[in-house]
Formats: sequence, structure tokens, C-alpha cells
Amino acid sequence: MKRLSVKWKLTLLITALLLVLTVAMAVFLMTITNRVVTENACTQLETTVRANLTLISRADDGNLLLEEGFAFTRSGVYTLIYSESGALLAGQPPLSAPDDVEFENGALRSEEAENDSDYYVLDFWLPFSWDDGVWVRGLIQVPEAASVVADLSDMALLVLPLVILLGGAGAYILVRSAFRPMDQIVAAAEAIGEGRDLSRRIGLGRRGDEMGRLAQAFDSMFARLEHSFEAEKQFTSDASHELRTPISVILAQCGEARHAETAEQYQEAITVIDRQARKMSALVAQLLQMTRLEQGTLRAAMEEADLSELVEVLCREQPELPKGITIQADVQPEVHAVFDVTLMSRLLQNLLDNAARYGRENGHIWVTLRTLEDQIFLSVRDDGVGIPEDRLEKIFQRFYQVDPARSGSAGTGLGLTMVRQIARLHGGEVTVESHEGVGSCFTFRFPAHHSGSTENDLKIS
Ligand code: ADP
Repeated sequence: MKRLSVKWKLTLLITALLLVLTVAMAVFLMTITNRVVTENACTQLETTVRANLTLISRADDGNLLLEEGFAFTRSGVYTLIYSESGALLAGQPPLSAPDDVEFENGALRSEEAENDSDYYVLDFWLPFSWDDGVWVRGLIQVPEAASVVADLSDMALLVLPLVILLGGAGAYILVRSAFRPMDQIVAAAEAIGEGRDLSRRIGLGRRGDEMGRLAQAFDSMFARLEHSFEAEKQFTSDASHELRTPISVILAQCGEARHAETAEQYQEAITVIDRQARKMSALVAQLLQMTRLEQGTLRAAMEEADLSELVEVLCREQPELPKGITIQADVQPEVHAVFDVTLMSRLLQNLLDNAARYGRENGHIWVTLRTLEDQIFLSVRDDGVGIPEDRLEKIFQRFYQVDPARSGSAGTGLGLTMVRQIARLHGGEVTVESHEGVGSCFTFRFPAHHSGSTENDLKIS
């Protein structure tokens, strides 16, 4: 059997609740009505008998004298007068009245008659003199509770289907309107799930209720999904584009080599192939490392170490720099911090490579390490070509190169992306100051004691 939807389940539940409530109300009403009717009968009995009592006396001739106003039957109450020995003197008991009921002065009780009809009985001894008196008995049939209940159940039979019908319809309308945003959420999620439209939003507006908040949470999740999907698409297209260029060059050079007429032509083709293959290899290695860092497969090995020593050793052991460029290191001694030694070396090496690559003939590179309060500042400054101001933010994006021709064969456009990634992994940030034709200064600032960032901090757009 097909499972019921939540909407229908809720509708049924509300209707069932309404039904139970109505039935409970009906039972409550019946009980109350029953009690009120019973109490009414008893009061009626007592007042009628007491009223009649005052109207009975003994005449001088020994007969009973019933004054005006005395009624043998009034409002269902029968009044009977008996002699002391129990012989009926006046009044006509109802046919179904119980027989042989003992007299009890002032006691109200119910007695069962033969035909199952119950009666309330109330007796009073009415004395005329010390040796003369009569028993006055009041009788009233215990009200047929069943008849009241029957009336009420007739009513209930009429009302209950109405309750089910109206209650069910009302509940369905209510549940449907409450679930409408849910339907929208499901439709949007399904559309996105089928990959049809990532830009779709639920768009419930500013509803402050739970549904509104749920829709907003979904919308922002969809926005993030769209963003990362777009970023992923961009990355794949950038990466394939970057790889396609050296591959095309290699293929072209293979053709050249195959048809080379001189040893020089052949040698030249092989040199180009070698350079492009190295570029591809560097690109793939960097891409792999960046992806591993982003996905958390490559975990940073954070340890307390001497950063001053690392910076000094790296600067000292740089292989001979191109264009006669020289390095000057101004390192504050004994700067201890928590960092990943390999990643930190890569960060500094990338900055040094760039400073050399974009430096000028016989230029300089200044490396400075300083601490200020709990922050560490590591900067690499050069007096090279500099970067146009409008490109300053873009240079950290994947594959971005201000001037690919100037980057040369070693440039991949990934170096600074990785620098920023490593900086964030250490809870820090990297900033750049640059003036075209004057030089650039990259500064990495990070807290001395940081336990390492989460994967999300590493996502680079
Ligand atoms: P690349 O592999 O091209 O050097 P990077 O991500 O390291 O890629 O750098 C991105 C771009 O930023 C470079 O193409 C270059 O134009 C610019 N750049 C980086 N460092 C410097 C610097 N020290 N001086 C001038 N330009 C720089």
C-alpha cells in the first residue's frame, strides 16, 4: 500500500483529535446533565413534600384536613399520606411505585420498583399531638438518564459527521498552507538535484517563522553550492587550458623534431619539449599539493620551531639568483612559533622565486622577520617591476598572471595561491604593497601560536 504523505497523516491526526475531543465533551456533558437532572429531581421532591406538610392538619372530627394549595401530584412528585401503622390514607401512588418501603423520617433514598423504574422516596412524620400523627411520603421517579443521554447521543450522531467533515477540511487547508513552503523547498531541491537549474532559489521572502528560516538556510546552501560548482567548473576549465598549452607546444615540437634537417633544429625542438614538460610537471605537482591541502589529505604538521633559523638558512642557501640579484636578510633572532616547517619553507621559497623572477638586473631582495606583540611579520621586498594597482587582488587567484610572457616557462600562476593557502593554514594572512617600476613587498602576518586551520579556511576561490 502506498504510504500516506505527512500532510495526510497530520490531517488525519488533527481530525482524530477533534473527534476524540468532541466525544469527550459529549460524555462530559452527559455526565453533568445527568447529575443536574438528578439533583433537580431531589430538590423538587423535598420542596414539594415540605410545602405539602404545612398544609396538612387534623380536623376536630378526626378527618385529615388538606388546606388549599395542597397537591397530591405536582411536577412529577406524588404526595401520599399514611397512618402510623402504614395504611394509605390519602393520595394515589403511581402504578410503578415500589411497595412495602419502610418509613424513615427525613431520609431521602432511592428505591427500586418491580418494573426496574427507580424512585426517590422522602418520608416525614407529621405529628398532630403526642399520640397522633401521619406519615407523609413523597415519591418522584428517578429521571431517566438514558433518555437525556439518548437525546444527546442523537445530537452527537448528527454533529459528529459534521465535525469530521468540517474539522478534516479545515485541518487539510491548514496543513496544506503550512506545508506549502515545504513543497517549494522540495521542488527547488529536486530541480537542483536533477542538475537542471543551480541558480534556482525557494525565495520565501522575509518570513520569520521556522519555514522561513528553513527556506533561507536552503537558499544560502544552494548559493554556496552554486558558487562551489561554478568555482569547480572554472578550476577544471583553467587547469585543462593551462595543461593544453604546453601539450600543444610539445606536440608541435615533436613534429618539428621529426622533420628536423639539422642537428641544431633537432636540439632546439628537444629543448622546447624539455622546458614545456618541466612546466607541466611543476603545474601538476602544484595542483596536486593545493588540492591535497584543500581536501585535508595533506595535513599540516604543526610544531614549535625556530622560525629565525629557518628563514636565515633558506636565504643563505638560495642557489645563485638570476640577473645578479642579491638577498639581504634582517632576521630577529630566536623567533619561536608553531608552524609546519615544510609548508613555511615553501611559502618563503615561492615569495623569493617571485621576487627573483620579477626583479630587475642587479636588483635586491630584502627579507625581514619581526615580532610585534603576539604577531609575527615575515616580509619579502624587491625592487623589481612591481604590480599594477588594479591587479593587486587578482594575483592571488588560481592561474592568474599579470604578464604570462614575463613569468617565463617556470611561472604557473599558482605560486601566490599556494602562499595564501599556507598563510591561512597558519591562521594568518598575506598582503602585498607594490608600485610599478619601484618594487613589491609581500608580508605574511600570523599569530605565534596557532594550532592550524580547518579545511574551510583553505578554500581558495
Ligand atoms: P607565477 O607562477 O606566474 O609567478 P604567482 O601566483 O606566483 O604565479 O604570481 C601571480 C602573478 O603575480 C605573477 O604572474 C606576477 O605577474 C605577479 N607577481 C608575483 N610576485 C611578484 C613580484 N614580486 N613582483 C612583481 N610581480 C609579481
